[in-house]
Amino acid sequence: MSRSRIVLAGVIVLLVAAFFTAGGHRYLSFETIKAHQATVQQYFQAHPWRTGLGFFAAYVAVTGLSLPGAALMTLVAGAIFGLLWGTVIVSFASSAGATLAFLASRFVLREWVQSRFGQSLRAVDRGIEREGAFYLFTLRLIPAVPFFVINLAMGLTSMRTATFYLVSQIGMLAGTIVYVNAGTQLAAIESPTGILSPGLIGALVLLGLFPLVAKRIVGAFKARRAYARWTRPARFDRNLVVIGAGSAGLVSAYIAAAVRAKVTLVEKHRMGGDCLNTGCVPSKALIKSARVLAQIRRARDYGLKSASAEFDFADVMERVQRVVRTIEPHDSAERYSQLGVECLPGEAQIVSPWEVQVKLASGELRRLTTRAIVIAAGARPFVPPIPGIEQVGCLTSDTVWDLRELPRRMVVLGGGPVGCELAQCFARFGAKVTQVEMLPRILVREDPEISDMVMQKFRQEGIDVLVGHKAKEFRVENGEKLLIAECDGKDVRIAFDALLCAVGRVANTTGYGLEALGIPVTKRMTIETNEYLQTLYPNIYACGDVAGPYQFTHTASHQAWYATVNALFGTFRRFRANYSVIPWATFTEPEVARVGLNVTEAREQGIAHEVSTYGIDDLDRAIADEEAHGVVKVLTVPGKDRILGATIVGEHAGELIAEFVVAMRHGLGLNKILGTIHVYPTLAEANKYAAGVWKKAHAPQRLLRRIERLHAWMRG
Ligand SMILES: Cc1cc2nc3c(=O)[nH]c(=O)nc-3n(C[C@H](O)[C@H](O)[C@H](O)COP(=O)(O)OP(=O)(O)OC[C@H]3O[C@@H](n4cnc5c(N)ncnc54)[C@H](O)[C@@H]3O)c2cc1C
Repeated sequence: MSRSRIVLAGVIVLLVAAFFTAGGHRYLSFETIKAHQATVQQYFQAHPWRTGLGFFAAYVAVTGLSLPGAALMTLVAGAIFGLLWGTVIVSFASSAGATLAFLASRFVLREWVQSRFGQSLRAVDRGIEREGAFYLFTLRLIPAVPFFVINLAMGLTSMRTATFYLVSQIGMLAGTIVYVNAGTQLAAIESPTGILSPGLIGALVLLGLFPLVAKRIVGAFKARRAYARWTRPARFDRNLVVIGAGSAGLVSAYIAAAVRAKVTLVEKHRMGGDCLNTGCVPSKALIKSARVLAQIRRARDYGLKSASAEFDFADVMERVQRVVRTIEPHDSAERYSQLGVECLPGEAQIVSPWEVQVKLASGELRRLTTRAIVIAAGARPFVPPIPGIEQVGCLTSDTVWDLRELPRRMVVLGGGPVGCELAQCFARFGAKVTQVEMLPRILVREDPEISDMVMQKFRQEGIDVLVGHKAKEFRVENGEKLLIAECDGKDVRIAFDALLCAVGRVANTTGYGLEALGIPVTKRMTIETNEYLQTLYPNIYACGDVAGPYQFTHTASHQAWYATVNALFGTFRRFRANYSVIPWATFTEPEVARVGLNVTEAREQGIAHEVSTYGIDDLDRAIADEEAHGVVKVLTVPGKDRILGATIVGEHAGELIAEFVVAMRHGLGLNKILGTIHVYPTLAEANKYAAGVWKKAHAPQRLLRRIERLHAWMRG
């Protein structure tokens, strides 16, 4: 805690202590106040302004320091100043005092709370951002929640000070009037407890709930207005229409059929979407072939005199297609039809909130009526509008699979997971690869030393990794394709034969009816959804790449569960999409896998953490496999074994991370991992050893010293 915070905390403690030592709490008792009522009123008659200002200041001090007695002072205000002026003075003084307490709590405690409970606080802050003002209003009106608790607790959240002040002032007004009014009859009141009758409390509770209810009503009204220009069919042919048969759409249709809903799945291109046809599956098949080749080249590492491989790049790419064909039946229309899904090959167009028109391959148009729609239309590669890019031609993750001839020189634009995986593959097959990234490092979401491990390996393998290079222009000069990139204000010329653009993916949000329905998109150009994955129209849901924020197959199917269950059963119960533990992996060599926070993110978010690192170069199995490289890096809550995040670099990191995913999902700490038997010799032991590093750092030193002395004593 900083000096200024400690000083302020000290001043507040001193003032509170002084109040009690001076017997302030005795003056602020109901009996004392009643006894001195006449004297105070006389003083007020003689000095109205002085009394008013003094009372205001005292009220601000009591509430600002969270001292007891605010309710009594409100009664006194009624007794001295009457209903109108009493209300005015108390209303402003209580709001000012509450805001002071709010600011003090924020200044003194928020940083500390943030560092210890940052992750939980982030969820609270998200809620505050969405509905904080409404909750505060409700709390202010419900007299069950003490005034000072609300001030201090809200100071720990991200609520804006102006919002806090304004909502407090409005929210407390009803209660203030009730108390000030009661105070006008102070002489007749026997005890302050009787002021709020059960009926009055009930009325205030109802008033407090009103804004939340009103918000729901406004939401329903907005939806109603959106629906107003459409005619709802009297009945529906289907319970659900799913647009897109990629990872999200397939899972959505599967779930709907499993719970016996009538569901239609529309796909305009290929069943399986990106993951099967142009994403995860072909890329992993290509990576495997490239890895085998790289291993053969390392024959001497394994004690073999020599080994070589002859290959034809076209055969490798054919193998990739064979793998896709082998997996294809899992996602096929035949399989899904057997499961009870109606599969329609064609292009879907949402024509009303309950109608989807499908243009079949034959050109025939079919109109489907449905209670709900799940949009799972995916994303496509983004090709940046760099001058000359059209002239040189550009491969993307959609088209690179058609290559049958290995480019001699290749530029890979982009240092993200897709760019890195493909750059390494092509380099291993023998292309001269230049990877161009405008940021200072590749795999920028990972910690700098993790990016560095991958970059070192890439450079060892002959990839020219150019970070901090911004692609400016493409040209063809004397029949040669050139990229002009800018680095530190200077132009760098890179000659190439093929360009692969892997700079990100954009959601498919146009051309199928969203515009006509007025369904909004976010700043990141994904469909705007609420936490239940509903769009502006509550019966239209979106999931997968088209909805974001993640672009993985496993998050697409995870969201699909929420979208489908909410679409089919939302009338009875709705589920908020839960993104608390999301893992991912980049399948380069070395492989990089992560779940939860890394050090960079923990620092950015001000979350206190400890890091335990285990180097895989020390692991028996990794040494036996000639794969003794990489690291397991685990972030934990200081002094505790609770896992905040883990990053693994090395062989099969994507598999090894699963142990941390389970641990985080189910609240298991490093002690539990350490206490679990791991097969020897396996790579998975690295997780246990990382837990061991944490344990060693937290060994009870004082106890160990005593035990040491005990042993010495026992030796005689
Ligand atoms: C090279 C590469 C490697 C990847 N590797 C991995 C990986 O290792 N692990 C991982 O988790 N993720 C990986 N991904 C990401 C993963 O492929 C996507 O996150 C996932 O496929 C998204 O699924 P989706 O269902 O949201 O969208 P998609 O799979 O894109 O499916 C959307 C479908 O909707 C159809 N469609 C769109 N509009 C209409 C319409 N109007 N009518 C009918 N049909 C329509 C499209 O034709 C498409 O088939 C990779 C991606 C790429 C490009």
